[in-house]
Amino acid sequence: MATVTETTIAQKLEALLKLQTIDSALDNIKKVRGDLPEEVRDLEDEIAGLETRLTKFQAEISSFEEQISNYKISKKDSDKLIVKYKEQQMNVRNNREFDAISKEIELQGLEMEIADKRIKEIDFKVLNKNDEVASVESNLHERKKDLEIKQKELEVIIGESEEDEQKFLKDRDKALKSVEERLLKSYTKLRDNAINGLAVVMVKRGACGGCFSSVPPQRQTDIKDKKKLIVCEHCGRILAGVEDPIPAPEKEKKPRGKAATAAAAAAAAAAAVPAE
Ligand SMILES: [Zn+2]
Repeated sequence: MATVTETTIAQKLEALLKLQTIDSALDNIKKVRGDLPEEVRDLEDEIAGLETRLTKFQAEISSFEEQISNYKISKKDSDKLIVKYKEQQMNVRNNREFDAISKEIELQGLEMEIADKRIKEIDFKVLNKNDEVASVESNLHERKKDLEIKQKELEVIIGESEEDEQKFLKDRDKALKSVEERLLKSYTKLRDNAINGLAVVMVKRGACGGCFSSVPPQRQTDIKDKKKLIVCEHCGRILAGVEDPIPAPEKEKKPRGKAATAAAAAAAAAAAVPAE
């Protein structure tokens, strides 16, 4: 014997349909925002990447400059040594000493040449790196401008729908409480697989409201009975009910007599009085 608290199939379907309505409303909000949120995220990532590259290039340039300054210091040292050696050469006692010092001078001269060559090479690297820095900087500048534009666009769009979104999210939390876990799992799976995000649909004009495959009359009757959960044979969506067929256009009603209208109005007014 079913207890009063046990949820009937009809109640389960109602809860699911409510959740579906809220989720569809949230889907619509997301659709309006389109790809903008993703585009903004992509731009932010790209900018972060460019900034990292810039920092790396600048560190490389600093290291090149340090190398150049070291070569310049060693050149100065060689220069000092040469001056010292030349003084020593003035005071040699024999040719052998003179030649030995000449060799030292020659060696320091070579050291200086090598340093000059290295400085030139590194200068060239710095030049190239500066070009790269300039190119990254201009790229970065453009991307930042793009981001600013897109962020503003997104802010406007979000501003238009933020209030609604918050309300729907709150409603959703509430609606979730009425849906059992097992059903929620199927619902989520169905929604994930459906392009239109519909997991729970009504039968409309004899067809599934999700995939538009026709639903046989007997099945429609079963759906209306709400004795068990019925899914679309074609797409697997949960069929929550059968929408009443659109009523045939009513014929123009004959205007009733004034007395009848007044009586009807009085009856309606009486019915509207709360029964307290
Ligand atoms: Zn279907």
